[in-house]
Amino acid sequence: MPDSLITNALHQRLLTLDSHVDIPWPEAEDPFFPSRRCLDIPKMREGGLKSVCLAAYIPQGARTREGFEAATSRAMAMLETITRIGRNPEARLAASVTEIEQAAAEHWPAIIPVIENGHAMGEDLSNIARFRAFGVRYITLTHNGHNALADSAVARRDLGDGPSLHGGLSDLGRAAIFEMNRLGIVVDVSHTARTAMLEAIRVSKFPVVASHSCVRALCDHPRNLDDEQLDALAASGGVIQITAVPFFVQRGGSVENTSLENFCNHIDHVVQRIGIEHVGIGSDFDGGGELSDWRHAGQSVNVTAELVRRGYDEEQIGKIWGGNFRRVLKASE
Ligand SMILES: [Zn+2]
Repeated sequence: MPDSLITNALHQRLLTLDSHVDIPWPEAEDPFFPSRRCLDIPKMREGGLKSVCLAAYIPQGARTREGFEAATSRAMAMLETITRIGRNPEARLAASVTEIEQAAAEHWPAIIPVIENGHAMGEDLSNIARFRAFGVRYITLTHNGHNALADSAVARRDLGDGPSLHGGLSDLGRAAIFEMNRLGIVVDVSHTARTAMLEAIRVSKFPVVASHSCVRALCDHPRNLDDEQLDALAASGGVIQITAVPFFVQRGGSVENTSLENFCNHIDHVVQRIGIEHVGIGSDFDGGGELSDWRHAGQSVNVTAELVRRGYDEEQIGKIWGGNFRRVLKASE
């Protein structure tokens, strides 16, 4: 059998999971049908992508009562859209590892709702339970810009940010992590400041995830995790999901000059530093992720082909392509 057929067959056997993709907002295109977007249901099927975390993304705004209310209502509206996608007859809404596995066994793409930016809850901890009712499985503590919970890796001077607001987490941020632990929501440390990330690992009772980040040893950007952060992540049992945003993959990176070869160097680095159990894949499709040879979810077999080329076996690729991430989800359930 030609190598490409063997790789294809291997890829189809995997329970693949992409841990971070953005959704249309406003809803210009319907995700159930072929679209110009990097991810839609037909592209998931074409690319053998079995499950995806769809993010209700909340841009950082003012930390005022009006700003908090606007963030919470936007989060609710986006979660309604995500659950509507998951309840379409062509897909399945999956809020647990069992539901992800069931959807795959029945050949339905699984949609896992998540929130990007804890600003969504404002200063009201009770919102976390409202989000969980939609099936939300992780909350990214911050986006770009400090919020009421934590410092961000990237300050927003246009919002009046200095380099640090809380020196890591705020009291509210620590309380939010406690509440997320209680409700089975994983803490996502992508986008958070280094201080906040390390503190979140100490505060959380369960392993944390970096849902879409690269490694700083290969690309010196504050959004990426340095080796000490990787060590702390591994000690907690967590996982870093390597992202396909070209300028996190390499300095001066663009879609045209950045490929899966560059992307998989980050996977290799994590494996060498902290082991195969702590790395995964979070494309950030439709949020800035796109590579020259992984332009959309329909080309996901190319990721497997590059991992095979590097000598990873099926069991290892299964861990990278979602097994590790599901372990972290399961730990919090
Ligand atoms: Zn992001």
